[in-house]
Amino acid sequence: MNNIWSLGEGYGQRGTGLGTYELQCPFCLEQGNFELEHRAEKKKPNSDKKLNFDTYKCGNCAGYVMALWSASENGGLYNFRVLPGVTGKLKASDYWPVEIQRFWLQAHESVTNEIWDGAAVLIRSALQICLRLNGATGDKLRDEINDLAQKGILPPLMKEWSNELRFLGNDSAHPEVGQESVIPADVRDALEFLDYLLQYLYDLPKQINDFRGRKTVTK
Ligand SMILES: [Zn+2]
Repeated sequence: MNNIWSLGEGYGQRGTGLGTYELQCPFCLEQGNFELEHRAEKKKPNSDKKLNFDTYKCGNCAGYVMALWSASENGGLYNFRVLPGVTGKLKASDYWPVEIQRFWLQAHESVTNEIWDGAAVLIRSALQICLRLNGATGDKLRDEINDLAQKGILPPLMKEWSNELRFLGNDSAHPEVGQESVIPADVRDALEFLDYLLQYLYDLPKQINDFRGRKTVTK
């Protein structure tokens, strides 16, 4: 949308206006169960075009969505935007080995649900399997990261970061009486490290490969 008045112009759905069957509730995910609660309009100067600012209430969970929609100036088309949008299910990159995908997904879901001990263990598992798939040797997570850094597979900055990961998952997997709980911010940082590591080891090489592929095609 170049400017707000281009909504519904040249691109959109066929019809005269937004149907509630098109809306999905971001809270309970029910489709099309909405009632119009309020509508405000803004008309374009010197034109029949108008923007509709609608608030809809979900008939299932009583949550609200705001829909901005507009029909085209010449009729026959309309388009809309909805807030808040439905967030799709998290998906691991197809370029990662399946073992990594599995742990990564569970790690992210645990952080989203604030299951901190579980997340710490899962991040550790994802990291460790990733390092081992890349040929790391060593008994501890930190040794394995250092090993890959020494082999030139990981950049120095990642090695430095690894020193901060000593805590990760160890305490949660081997609990002791009176042990302190994991710090959520530490778990989030560790997850961010994991994301960077996976991008670096799997997604970037894939992108470089694709880039080279395009070069040879256009040569
Ligand atoms: Zn709902």
